[in-house]
Amino acid sequence: MHFLKSESLPSEATDSWKQMTDILRISIHVSLHLVAPGAIAYLFFRHTWKWSWGIMVATMLVDLDHLFATPIFDPNRCSVGFHPLHSYAAICCYLILVFPTFTRVAAVGLLFHMLTDMIDWWIR
Ligand SMILES: [Zn+2]
Repeated sequence: MHFLKSESLPSEATDSWKQMTDILRISIHVSLHLVAPGAIAYLFFRHTWKWSWGIMVATMLVDLDHLFATPIFDPNRCSVGFHPLHSYAAICCYLILVFPTFTRVAAVGLLFHMLTDMIDWWIR
C-alpha cells in the first residue's frame, strides 16, 4: 500500500507542474494579445494610443478564420501558415499595409498578432 502511494507522487507533481505552466502560458497569451498592443500603441502611436490600442485588439478578429478549420482549435497546430488569414500570403499583405498611414495601425496589430500566435505555439 505504501509503495502504491509513493508511486502516485510523481504523477501529482507532474500535474501541478502542468497546471503552473498552463497558467503561465495563458498569462503570456493574454498579455501579448491585450496588454502588449497597448504598450505598442503608447510607444508608436502616442497621439491616438487609446484608439490605436482598440484597433490592434480588434485585429484578433482574424481568428474568425479558425471557424473554417476542423477542429476549430488544435493546441498542436500552429495558426500561422495554416488558416487563410494567418497564411504567409496574408502576412505579406499585412507587411505591405504597414506603409499607407491609414492602414498602419491595423497592419502592425495584425503582424503582432501573427508573432503572438507563433510564440503561443513555441511555448505550448
Ligand atoms: Zn490568430
